[in-house]
Amino acid sequence: MQEVIPFSPPRIDDETIKEVNKTLLSGWITTGPRTKLFEKKIAEFCNVPHVLCLNSATAGLELMLRWFGLKEGDEVILPAYTYAATANVIVHCGAKPVFVDINDDFNISFNAIRKAISNRTKVIIPVDLAGFPCDYDEINALVCSPEIKSLFIAESDNQVVLNRVLVLADAAHSIGAIYKGKKSGSLTDVSVFSFHAVKNLTTAEGGAVCLNLPAPFNNEDIYKYLCIKSLHGQSKDALAKMTLGNWKYDIIEAGYKFNMTDIQAAIGLVELGRYENDMLVRRREIFEMYTDILSKHDFAIIPPYETTDKRSSFHVFALRLKNVDENQRDSIMQGVFDRNVTVNVHFIPIPMMTFYKQMGYSISDYPNTYKNFACEISLPVYYTLTNQQVERVANSVIQSYYEVMGK
Ligand SMILES: *Cc1c(COP(=O)(O)O)cnc(C)c1O
Repeated sequence: MQEVIPFSPPRIDDETIKEVNKTLLSGWITTGPRTKLFEKKIAEFCNVPHVLCLNSATAGLELMLRWFGLKEGDEVILPAYTYAATANVIVHCGAKPVFVDINDDFNISFNAIRKAISNRTKVIIPVDLAGFPCDYDEINALVCSPEIKSLFIAESDNQVVLNRVLVLADAAHSIGAIYKGKKSGSLTDVSVFSFHAVKNLTTAEGGAVCLNLPAPFNNEDIYKYLCIKSLHGQSKDALAKMTLGNWKYDIIEAGYKFNMTDIQAAIGLVELGRYENDMLVRRREIFEMYTDILSKHDFAIIPPYETTDKRSSFHVFALRLKNVDENQRDSIMQGVFDRNVTVNVHFIPIPMMTFYKQMGYSISDYPNTYKNFACEISLPVYYTLTNQQVERVANSVIQSYYEVMGK
């Protein structure tokens, strides 16, 4: 039997280990100089004014919903096709997730957003699924249009200043993606990256908030305030408090515990340093190899990853199988597993989850979400995946497809 091909192992090598060791021995291991440097480097990479690093993307999304004053009775529009984190943070705030359907590129449908906006809508969370950017020009223009602005009811200080719906991008997948010449992170008001272990750029666990709010907001002031809000509302961070004679601090609100450690930042700095010219290059090669092999077969629907306006971060190769239903897809996946290849599905739509079904949501309201989910198989994409393994993955899908569906 051939060795098991895993789905998404992290890229950890001597360089990563050396930097982590250096941090461990540096005398400072939680939020400190490395986290601050990592924030600066991400801000440069994405061309945004300020970046705040946290312990997850989930924390970043919730922090920004809280910053905007989201509360009970408010609505947040998001795609039905995403990971649970996008919806759970809305529930945490006591607000109502308003799921909408997707396009055939897996991303939130602009027309569906327009239909779902009400005078209770406070935030839209587009998700750059698989690393492919959403239609930001359209979404940004919509929330600024007089007709939609006139619906908005400002109920917190920051809502009064923005005076319209906030666009909060779930960019968990899309660091390094490009939309009309601009990097993900800079495409709307606020964007949140994930550095979870299976994401393109990892810190084991981690996330970052890219602040790109329009005037009269001052992104630097907001950054400073969010540093406090994400650390218990404490007026000084731990490093500042530790300096000689600087022990006094105050608590200005009941904040969160969302900060990133310098150990995580050490991994992230190594990752970011070789991201664009190494990691993304290899991921693109893998996407192109899958495309070459699979597009020879009529059943394969290749996911979009490059158009005139958009370039993916090549996070997930979301293959779809023509005229395959959910049961057949599951059987085809089993055949792939039997060949010792790990594949996955991104994602089981949120309205299919027990908790959300109990809240009254039904997948039958999102036909395009279900259609795309039912025939989707995500193929492994990671730095150390060899060309030979890429061929083995693709061939195992092809063989299993014909076994289940016939020639
Ligand atoms: C991974 C993921 C998240 C959550 O990221 P964490 O860093 O694990 O909190 C949010 N949204 C999507 C679409 C994701 O895939």
